[in-house]
Amino acid sequence: LIQLFRPLDVLGWVYRTIRQGLVDMAEMFRLIDTDIEVKDVAGAPALIVRTPTVVFDNVTFGYEPGRTILDGLSFKVPAGSTTAIVGPSGAGKSTIGRLLFRFYDPQGGRVLVGGEDIALVTQDSLRQQIGIVPQDSVLFNESLAYNIGYGAEGADEALIEQAARDAALMPLISRLPEGFGTMVGERGLKLSGGEKQRVAIARTLVKNPPILLLDEATSALDTRTEQEILGTLKRLEEGRTTIAIAHRLSTIADSDNILVLDHGRLAESGTHTALLAKGGLYAEMWSRQASEQRGEGEAVASEAAE
Ligand code: ATP
Repeated sequence: LIQLFRPLDVLGWVYRTIRQGLVDMAEMFRLIDTDIEVKDVAGAPALIVRTPTVVFDNVTFGYEPGRTILDGLSFKVPAGSTTAIVGPSGAGKSTIGRLLFRFYDPQGGRVLVGGEDIALVTQDSLRQQIGIVPQDSVLFNESLAYNIGYGAEGADEALIEQAARDAALMPLISRLPEGFGTMVGERGLKLSGGEKQRVAIARTLVKNPPILLLDEATSALDTRTEQEILGTLKRLEEGRTTIAIAHRLSTIADSDNILVLDHGRLAESGTHTALLAKGGLYAEMWSRQASEQRGEGEAVASEAAE
């Protein structure tokens, strides 16, 4: 019987998630593949955030017994600041995002948002507080206006237009004969990776959450588009508490704090300058990426010379 009900449970949850405008998360975490393990506690109150801090307090987590992914991890993201999470592949960076959204509960320790243990409040109210710009955003087969306003019920035209302006979408929209009414997605106008990112940023601006999770938000873009989008992302980050998961260190070097994760533990943390001075794992990753970039540059230059 449990086996029969479990898929229905999952479907109901996915439906609720999509209805709440969290479809980007669905893409990011491939929800259908994710076992839904977390339930609200009976009578859980809604999360009310006055000061949007994020705290991981001695968090231990593994997806399966016997394999620890996060091992007693502690850090604090002060309200309104930006913390980047970097580290080798498989270190547990995206897992931190999944725990913050409470797709899983830690086996030890607590995750606190605005000082509240997120395990004790409703998941819906928690997810309302967090906006996400994932690597690859999902668009609906609907108008541009719908895609931007999605997730914020009652968003009016003025708000949608302002968000489009702030996300630097207006040059695109003003070229389209049907403007905001242009259908996009599989059966409409195909947007480039950068344009899709801008729609995701505009959508997040309309939602106006106090906390942001950027999961490698620009890694799928070419360098020039990445630079443009990074500028727009900076505006989105203003006044919000931001966690940025990153591979390319150049995109997060100006963060208020950088956490270097290695095998589920905090190897080191600090600003870019402090971490370089330390000469540890971050400095090693930085010089490796810098020489890779120089290599790419030289390859491009020699191609051009041929
Ligand atoms: P990358 O930089 O490659 O994206 P990451 O640091 O974000 O890596 P995570 O995605 O957090 O790493 O994964 C950490 C570890 O947890 C990996 O070894 C991964 O194989 C494992 N893992 C991730 N998701 C699951 C899952 N649903 N079930 C079991 N193991 C998982």
